[in-house]
Amino acid sequence: MPIDPTKPYDPSNIFARIVRGEIPCSKVYEDEHALAFHDINPQAPVHVLVIPKGPYVSWDDFSERGTDAEIAGFVRAVGKVAREQGLVEPGYRLLANVGMDGGQEVPHLHVHLFGGRPMGPMVR
Ligand code: AMP
Repeated sequence: MPIDPTKPYDPSNIFARIVRGEIPCSKVYEDEHALAFHDINPQAPVHVLVIPKGPYVSWDDFSERGTDAEIAGFVRAVGKVAREQGLVEPGYRLLANVGMDGGQEVPHLHVHLFGGRPMGPMVR
């Protein structure tokens, strides 16, 4: 079920629990502000999720409440993961689902990083 974006951040969501180390993930990158791990249900040969470590529901929430350091750290981490995954030369796709029309299921901001094959049309 897509999330209701008007609800406050829920610290029991699965990505918050991954950040706290309460449940495992297949980690590909971590620094002070961001964590990246393989999606449990990959939609492409490379399907990595990059999340900020702080309690943010969505891109608009993060852009409003995140500190400059958190925002810079997260954006730099997304690019670093893309480079480390070898996606720059072949190309890749970034996607952030937000709220009900966006089809967001986990209420903690995450960017999907897809690669390893042509991604096809932008929106079906
Ligand atoms: P979204 O629809 O953008 O909220 O996508 C949520 C994504 O999180 C989906 O692609 C799921 O496969 C992925 N996901 C859910 N639980 C986990 C988990 N424990 N570890 C890795 N990926 C997960």
